[in-house]
Amino acid sequence: MNLLILGPQGSGKGTQAQLLSDKYGFYHLEMGNILRSISKSKNKHADVIANSINTGNLVPDEYVRLIAWDHINQYHSSVKGFIFEGYPRSLAQYEHVEEMLRKFGDRINKVIVVEISEEETIKRLSSRLTCVRCGRVYNTITAPPPELGTCECGGELTLREDDKPEAIKRRLQIYRTQTAQIIDRARQEGMLLEIDGERPIETIHLDIVRALGL
Ligand code: AMP
Repeated sequence: MNLLILGPQGSGKGTQAQLLSDKYGFYHLEMGNILRSISKSKNKHADVIANSINTGNLVPDEYVRLIAWDHINQYHSSVKGFIFEGYPRSLAQYEHVEEMLRKFGDRINKVIVVEISEEETIKRLSSRLTCVRCGRVYNTITAPPPELGTCECGGELTLREDDKPEAIKRRLQIYRTQTAQIIDRARQEGMLLEIDGERPIETIHLDIVRALGL
């Protein structure tokens, strides 16, 4: 079974994808994280990728497609299925994934959308702080640091570049325009699973598990 998990930034889709992969053996492909780590590496494309991420824009399709192909090609025979998080984000990317899976006689089985309001997205993202030294992530509302502005390791805590208001607005705009088209397509094809993301993590997880019949 192959799943897509979508949702606005801060919806908790990453947490849900991780729970599903830990418990049911899906291969969790988290595109945002992969791209962020390339952007900080010595890869010759690091600057292009970093620039897209920091401004809240999509990284060009050709990079994303190659990364996805690399993972699908390498792991499809050894895993129970994929859970694609934050990818695809446009209809073109959706069609690429379908095409890649088709090469292995496989397909996308369900599209999960974790929904939260725009106000909640902004609240959650602007309360997310990352340590510049160790990378630990805090949330000033739900998981605050022991001391304001400082990590447990003593490092300085900052807002991620793409969690700043301008970039958040751009990311939400892309979600509303491009990613929403995938949701419409999945709805028409009877593959959509809509989940209310403004509830406790475990409740959401159980809802997904039940709906998927896992
Ligand atoms: P995320 O952590 O999922 O919000 O992703 C962070 C950033 O990575 C996004 O704002 C984009 O710049 C980039 N990114 C993640 N997934 C994709 C994708 N499927 N296509 C293009 N860019 C992406």
